[in-house]
Amino acid sequence: MGTRKGLKLRFVLGLFVIGSVILTAIIGGYFAWTTNKTSLTSGYLESNYQYAQKLSSNTKELLDIIGNNVDAIAARAGIQNISQKELDSWYDANEQYFNAIIIVDSNRKVMLSSFSSGGVKAGAVLNSYASKQAVEQKRPLISEPYVGTTTNQLLMLISSPIFNEHGEYEGFVAGTIYLSESNALSKLLNEHFYGNGSYVYVADKQGRLIFHPDHKRINEKITSNEVINKALAGHSGSQEIVNSKENRYFAGYASESITGWAIVAQTPASIIDKPLNELIWSILLQFLPLFIVILLLAWYVSHLISKPLFELAAFSEEAILSTKAIRSKMPKTNSYIYEVRQLNQSINNHFNLLNKEIRLDGLTGLANRKTFDLTIQEWIAEDIPFALILLDVDHFKKINDQHGHLIGDEVLIYTAAQIKAFSRSHDLSFRYGGEEFGILVKLGSIPTATNIAERLREGIAAGASPTGSPIYVSIGISISSGKAKEAKEIIEMADQALYRSKEAGRNRTTVYDNKPLSGRED
Ligand code: GH3
Ligand code: MG
Ligand code: MG
Repeated sequence: MGTRKGLKLRFVLGLFVIGSVILTAIIGGYFAWTTNKTSLTSGYLESNYQYAQKLSSNTKELLDIIGNNVDAIAARAGIQNISQKELDSWYDANEQYFNAIIIVDSNRKVMLSSFSSGGVKAGAVLNSYASKQAVEQKRPLISEPYVGTTTNQLLMLISSPIFNEHGEYEGFVAGTIYLSESNALSKLLNEHFYGNGSYVYVADKQGRLIFHPDHKRINEKITSNEVINKALAGHSGSQEIVNSKENRYFAGYASESITGWAIVAQTPASIIDKPLNELIWSILLQFLPLFIVILLLAWYVSHLISKPLFELAAFSEEAILSTKAIRSKMPKTNSYIYEVRQLNQSINNHFNLLNKEIRLDGLTGLANRKTFDLTIQEWIAEDIPFALILLDVDHFKKINDQHGHLIGDEVLIYTAAQIKAFSRSHDLSFRYGGEEFGILVKLGSIPTATNIAERLREGIAAGASPTGSPIYVSIGISISSGKAKEAKEIIEMADQALYRSKEAGRNRTTVYDNKPLSGRED
């Protein structure tokens, strides 16, 4: 058995196709992943940007409303004194905006305080920077958030100056807003928690946190936050940031025009991990059946391509290694591939030519000695009974001498043609060498072989010979049955019978009868 070395084409093709399909899938998956990642990222950045912008404009609107409210009370207070009852009902109507409304004189003494204000009472003197600023500047102000001394809470003062009908300054009206308590502003800017981890924080003009979901961080000064710094510089936009805990966020930021506050809305970047993972899985699941179909198809196509080549290769290998006289036939190929068809045809032509040259005698076209040797061994090995007819042209030397070698050759060709004509299709007619020929009569008994030999001898003699005179031959016959098991013995027996025909006067047939020959000389 031959060992087929090297990788088989089918395997290589299959591997190549599987590799290509997997690589394509990876590249496709990667592109889908990055495209989705980019679109999800920009979606979150954009929505956070929009949200920060919206919060900024809502804060401005709210501060405008609150400012107008305070202005209206101040205008009213300039014309006539406001009673406690009046202030309280005013406060009640606008309670969502303020934690308290106070009316303060030019010495910062609280004249009137809305009923429910928990902090300052009437008669108290304000000492905050915001109140001093209000008195000094005598114009509508929105203070920086500051920590109130009595309440210890972060608050801001929205004030409006009071001028009497003579245009004299009489103090101011202020609305106080505690940033950590419930009011319209804190509702707008505080506690923006969403299920997805997004949140909002606000820093004042100084970069101090004034709204943050982590209350412990309120009043903390932020210096290294890129987006806060950008918003404080008056810019708005969005970008991916990494916080102090190395967490990534998609942040949108905006600057509030009245206060100069920086408003940031941000979402953890890990939010896109889940949809991206889901995407990869759904791609994998959707791709799997297609992948299997492509693989099967590729396997089938590679099989179609490689099968004829494989058969051709296997055939060539067998043809080279085989010791059989008659080689196996070329595999038939139905391949539609040009190269395969062409290769098949070329190998076939060469093989036939080579086979012919190896097997046949060049002059007569009969099987040669080698083919005879292989065939006789094969038949013996396969226990096929046969008879061997050996034939020698009588006085051939004379023919050569009288007519020349060319005519001698013609006589050999003529004899071969006669042998071919008298032998049956499954017999093997051959040239043994020189002017000696033979027929291996398959399944031939002595009578059959004798019959063939005699008809052949007479046929050769009766036919139109190249010399113009009859050609006579002497024949010896032996059979494979009996004791003889070796090709050499069977040939030897036929040869001895042939010798006896010569001895007995030529132009005759002798069957080997196992009797020892007498007087044989070489
Ligand atoms: P016999 O009747 O005893 O067989 O005598 P013979 O002359 O036929 O036998 P011999 O063996 O003496 O001579 C055979 C001759 O055949 C000798 C050789 O020159 C000739 N011969 C062998 N091969 C060829 C060949 O291919 N062509 C030709 N023209 N002659 C050949
Ligand atoms: Mg001879
Ligand atoms: Mg002879």
